[in-house]
Amino acid sequence: MDSADRHRRRRRNGRQGPSQIPTLNTRPERVAPERSEDDLHLCPACGSNLVQPVEWAPVDRRSWRVELQCPECDAGRAGIFSQPALDRFDAILDNGTIALLDDLGKLERYNMEEAIERFSVALQSDQILPEDF
Ligand SMILES: [Zn+2]
Repeated sequence: MDSADRHRRRRRNGRQGPSQIPTLNTRPERVAPERSEDDLHLCPACGSNLVQPVEWAPVDRRSWRVELQCPECDAGRAGIFSQPALDRFDAILDNGTIALLDDLGKLERYNMEEAIERFSVALQSDQILPEDF
């Protein structure tokens, strides 16, 4: 019996997965068309809020030249932006990092629960033998 057969057999037995797929924080949301020049995280082409900096260099003490790229539509732009605008952008990027790490933790937990459930079902139905190790 190969692993696909085991999987089909388990599903025929009516076993369910260990839990629901987790709700994630990082689903992109479209934004209203009103926006400020300083909303660096917003894509002017598609409205995504996932725009990322790809290169940056200081222009003077109060501004930076930053190249931005949208990961959803691949639109890019560059400009010179003030330090306060970049500080706001940096805070938004930090919040995005926190949301990604939170989602990663949820997915790791979900995957581990599912693996434990599969292993438990296999043990209970004698599908794991000493020679498997
Ligand atoms: Zn875009």
